[in-house]
Amino acid sequence: MSHVTGVERTLVLLKPDAVARGLAGRVLTRFEQALLKIVAIKMVWMDAELAKRHYFDLEERFGLAVYNLMADFMQTGPVIAVVLEGVDAISCVRKMVGATYPDQAAPGTIRGDFAHMSRAYANDRGVAVANLVHASGNAEEAEHEIGVWFAKDEIHEYATAAEHYHR
Ligand code: ADP
Repeated sequence: MSHVTGVERTLVLLKPDAVARGLAGRVLTRFEQALLKIVAIKMVWMDAELAKRHYFDLEERFGLAVYNLMADFMQTGPVIAVVLEGVDAISCVRKMVGATYPDQAAPGTIRGDFAHMSRAYANDRGVAVANLVHASGNAEEAEHEIGVWFAKDEIHEYATAAEHYHR
């Protein structure tokens, strides 16, 4: 994988709100339609330790209150963790996911099409911003996050049907 120029891997989490709303298939379909290849996938009910490893810098960025909200929210139900591979996968997936606060996320993006919560609403109510999906922000984050969620032997190299026929 890494020897092909421009081909990247990125970590996506379908957060508990996406799983609880039964949106997993529709969200994954969007990625598959964009020629992003699923190379690892599993369902996990996070614990406090995994929340800390995944959101290791969230407290520093937003403060302890937001960190605690997010850590609790991420443990309200199982998440589906996925590694996607494709050309410029990191920026491509971020574009498809849309802006952090769903009220600002453009129509056509996953957050813009399936969610609407604003930061103001979340902060007034003292809840986490339910925005369905996490996606790695850059190459460094992707490498770190894939390592947090998957062992090397859980990530698969295989040819899709299209790759198979174009070999
Ligand atoms: P992104 O997930 O778009 O990369 P960030 O890394 O900045 O966004 O934030 C991590 C997650 O924390 C967001 O996806 C959102 O669910 C949550 N979050 C961000 N800001 C707030 C806030 N002010 N109040 C509650 N939750 C927040």
